[in-house]
Amino acid sequence: MTFEELNIAEPVLRALAEKGYVTPTPIQEKAIPVALEGRDLFGCAQTGTGKTAAFALPIIQHICRERIPSPRKIQSLILTPTRELAIQIGECFTDYARHTPLRHCVIFGGVNQRPQTEALAKGVDVLIATPGRLLDLAAQGFVSLDAVRYFVLDEADRMLDMGFIHDIKRILPMLPKRKQTLFFSATLPPAIASLSRSILYKPVKVEVAPPASTVDVIRQSVCFVEKKEKKEQLIHLLQEDRSDSVLVFSRTKYGADKIARFLTKAGIRSEAIHGNKTQVARQRALGNFKAHKTRVLVATDIAARGIDIDRLERVVNYDLPEVPETYVHRIGRTGRAGNDGVAVSFCSEEERPLLREIQKLIGKTIPEMQA
Ligand code: AMP
Repeated sequence: MTFEELNIAEPVLRALAEKGYVTPTPIQEKAIPVALEGRDLFGCAQTGTGKTAAFALPIIQHICRERIPSPRKIQSLILTPTRELAIQIGECFTDYARHTPLRHCVIFGGVNQRPQTEALAKGVDVLIATPGRLLDLAAQGFVSLDAVRYFVLDEADRMLDMGFIHDIKRILPMLPKRKQTLFFSATLPPAIASLSRSILYKPVKVEVAPPASTVDVIRQSVCFVEKKEKKEQLIHLLQEDRSDSVLVFSRTKYGADKIARFLTKAGIRSEAIHGNKTQVARQRALGNFKAHKTRVLVATDIAARGIDIDRLERVVNYDLPEVPETYVHRIGRTGRAGNDGVAVSFCSEEERPLLREIQKLIGKTIPEMQA
């Protein structure tokens, strides 16, 4: 299957070719025809499956098929739970729509609203937003959603987990009744099923393989090391190894800072991201890492949620996570879109029980790292 066979039109096709995307991912193969047909969609897929392009490409195509009105009106609203995801979705639109006249804007909380309202005032076709800031700017009269024809609710399950249900319920009535809705959720708890029933009209359900299949392509190993030796071991590992982009997980914010500091001291370019840093500092650290200015990004689980890095070569679990599922999420950051990845986990004596839980969850014994 090719993007051409999925009826993706020329300017977008060219942008995809420039990104080096040759074949659509399974979620794209299944969701794009449904979305292009104008039907509502329930997509059961998580980050890393290529779901952003699965909704972005049809939206770009729909909007660019007709003449863009002047002044511009928001024709598509994409709601997403976190700032990082909002920014990433924005980057996808920048890439895929680069040969079209389409304009988009990303709004999220925690930063000055001025640049966002200025961008909105210039007129945009697609708005990517987190719920709180959207409500804020709508209440101030900066956003009108009357002309929305394509609505995306991204990571709906995480939205509910993060307590956004009331915000979503306040946003829904601001949208026109007649519109196409694309709904994405990685899991299907009852609250999601009921929310989707209330907002989707005769949806087509599309599902792709759960994250376990990604985990299979990742080369995993465990390094048994005493707690006080972890520091030396990490430095040693990074000095031996030539990998370019390494994500190191720390259980605590304090730990993340400490790790970034001792790596920098050892001459390994690294930065930490976690919840105590300002949004600007987090974005800058992520930007430096993506641009390969820093080699190692040290993150806590919360800070790493949803961040998507192309060609992440290695994940190191400096500490093992308390919740076994978190292990799968962490290592799933490497081995994206068919690339093979490497994941190393440090395990101290006290962490052995955590390792056993993880092995039970993934159904195999993680081999010991060969020195
Ligand atoms: P997503 O699930 O949308 O966060 O996408 C996961 C990763 O896969 C991102 O880094 C995308 O840039 C990449 N990607 C999406 N579609 C394709 C494709 N058809 N071929 C190769 N990589 C892709």
